[in-house]
Amino acid sequence: MKKDTWCVEIWGSRGSFPRPEARFLKYGGNTSCVSLIHGGGVVILDAGSGLVELGRRLCAGRLDIFISHFHLDHVQGLPMFQPFYNPETEVHIYGQAGLKQSLETLVGPPYWPVGFSDFAARISFHELRPGTEFVLNGLKVTTLGGNHPGGSILYRMDGMDSDGRKRSLVYALDCEADEKVMQDLAEFARETDLLLWDAGFTSEDFKAGWGHSTWEQGMALRRLAGAKKVVMMHYNGAYDDTFLEKLEERAREQDAAVWFAREGMRLC
Ligand SMILES: [Zn+2]
Ligand SMILES: [Zn+2]
Repeated sequence: MKKDTWCVEIWGSRGSFPRPEARFLKYGGNTSCVSLIHGGGVVILDAGSGLVELGRRLCAGRLDIFISHFHLDHVQGLPMFQPFYNPETEVHIYGQAGLKQSLETLVGPPYWPVGFSDFAARISFHELRPGTEFVLNGLKVTTLGGNHPGGSILYRMDGMDSDGRKRSLVYALDCEADEKVMQDLAEFARETDLLLWDAGFTSEDFKAGWGHSTWEQGMALRRLAGAKKVVMMHYNGAYDDTFLEKLEERAREQDAAVWFAREGMRLC
């Protein structure tokens, strides 16, 4: 692998709960997990069930996991994350206030036979507040608060690819967009290469107060923000492949810069 590169990969595209049945597998049955390989290393966005397969592919070394919030579909891959069991690995986990305590409740008895203190890897926890900015191994990380029950953190990552071009992504899952949120997001996602979007609903199915958005809003936000590409994900557990195929067709008729995430999709 070239040292200075930029590649995003989707490991979990589903929202709420895994759907491992055959009729969901074209777009993917695993819950939220995305990896970004950049010049400085590997960054992981959310630790849903998609994290399990990603963990099997990673080499030892440093890994940084950014958690949007503690709902199960964003953390349920942690107990089975293979690098935790490797003494050659150093894992940094970032997330909302109460991060360590919340994750220790999930990963450990009685929900899991072993806890963080039993793992061989060196693991550290870093609480983040929305509206902060810092640089991690050459990658600029910016956070924004999401409109979601219990709150969520949206992430923007800015870096550079091997040709010295500026690259960026915005990870905006579990956020219900209204007019004000759309304005804030348009600034946050200004001219990003890649907007990863919460397409939990269609506008017909939208339920106010559930903390999710629609694919139509994602498409509108791409234009508003001047983002190069929007990739829909966090699909509703009821949306099977046939349904998502129709949505994707409808969306791409209106905007060729709209994509629907599938597990294994690479955006480099
Ligand atoms: Zn979710
Ligand atoms: Zn949530």
